[in-house]
Amino acid sequence: MTTQNHHQVLIVGGGSAGITVAAHLMNVARPPQIAIIEPSEKHYYQPLWTLVGGGVFPREESERNEADFIPAGVQWIKERVATFDPDQNALTLQNGGRLTYDYLIVAAGIQIDWGKIKGLKESLGKNGVCSNYSYDSVGSTWDNIRSFKQGGTAIFTQPSTPIKCGGAPQKIAYLAEDYFAKHGVRANSKVVFMHAGASIFAVKKYADALTQVAKRKQIDVRFQRELVEIRPESREAVFKLGTPEGGEEVVKYDLLHVTPPMSAPDFIKTSKLAASTGWVEVNKHTMQHTRYANVYALGDCSNLPTSKTGAAIRKQAPALAANLIAQLNGETSSASYDGYTSCPLVTGYGSLIMAEFDYDLKPKETFPFDQSKERYSMYALKAYGLPQMYWNGMLRGRV
Ligand SMILES: Cc1cc2nc3c(=O)[nH]c(=O)nc-3n(C[C@H](O)[C@H](O)[C@H](O)COP(=O)(O)OP(=O)(O)OC[C@H]3O[C@@H](n4cnc5c(N)ncnc54)[C@H](O)[C@@H]3O)c2cc1C
Repeated sequence: MTTQNHHQVLIVGGGSAGITVAAHLMNVARPPQIAIIEPSEKHYYQPLWTLVGGGVFPREESERNEADFIPAGVQWIKERVATFDPDQNALTLQNGGRLTYDYLIVAAGIQIDWGKIKGLKESLGKNGVCSNYSYDSVGSTWDNIRSFKQGGTAIFTQPSTPIKCGGAPQKIAYLAEDYFAKHGVRANSKVVFMHAGASIFAVKKYADALTQVAKRKQIDVRFQRELVEIRPESREAVFKLGTPEGGEEVVKYDLLHVTPPMSAPDFIKTSKLAASTGWVEVNKHTMQHTRYANVYALGDCSNLPTSKTGAAIRKQAPALAANLIAQLNGETSSASYDGYTSCPLVTGYGSLIMAEFDYDLKPKETFPFDQSKERYSMYALKAYGLPQMYWNGMLRGRV
């Protein structure tokens, strides 16, 4: 490695959070010296994967070269972090290298635990089993939806763990249902949404609206059902029941869309930066670590008690950057994050409920109309407006 070993600000992860916070830090009059550690050559706009799974866009539309989004003046270290040593202001890399820092920002995203569901890894992408939750598997969702020509049972799952974009598991169920209805197979098919939790959405206003959407579409919504096993030979999905009686339910499927369990990345879980839950433990308003004053975290890997979305990061990044710059200059900062997050709930091709809320699960809506109503304008915003805003605005620290 030809890079220096000490950095003023070291950012771990160059995904949505890492790039956005770096851009905000570079937008000040005298920016600090910054390096981003990111192993991937590619950057993904993951919110598009819902529409990729629904066949609206090819998956390539969600992919760009990472190099084009590392802010000018920021050094890119194309490596993977292995361990943290916050008592020594240091971390180690998978190639054996060791780097030190004055300030650390952890933005390493969430870990997808594919292995936690028996039979999932072996069946993903084959014989009706698909998932929008990775670039490699998202194409299989669309393949399965469009080839569902005989009808049958289509199951969509949501696990009990925190996940990125809490609404995504049901969005793809609504798109599939709409596709089946438009292509004459709805009468021959059963659409089932199996949710390990006890309610369809965390915010009552939107939950009420979504309950009506599912009812209108005659989607069979069942709660407290955690997918634990897939038996590909017999096309059976096994669900553990969360009800007091316990037990399991075995359902035959023709199409099975899996939202896998997720957790904090292992290298964070096993580090001193982790809370007991495994996420990086930070103050929920300042995003500063609760035990290491020169460490911050944001995005999916943090323990910020809000829904894990890119929309949340858009509000976290400028506040974190303002707090870090103030600390660096020996000043105080009043920048505070209020838990804002947003979930564009696609309910069909051309309709969407735009949920926006804060830490108190109170709606925090942008538009002067009731956002719990399904609208084409909000669908158009998600499909055509937000991707542009992401690539040209958010990742540049402009919005
Ligand atoms: C199907 C789907 C639909 C979604 N829909 C929406 C939506 O409609 N609206 C919305 O706002 N959000 C949505 N999201 C969520 C959004 O994409 C994420 O919340 C956001 O990308 C999180 O950003 P992040 O930077 O925390 O993680 P990521 O963007 O995942 O980036 C993490 C980065 O860390 C890197 N990394 C990992 N381990 C290491 C390591 N050891 N060392 C160095 N680097 C490492 C990774 O390579 C990666 O580049 C959706 C996500 C999915 C999958």
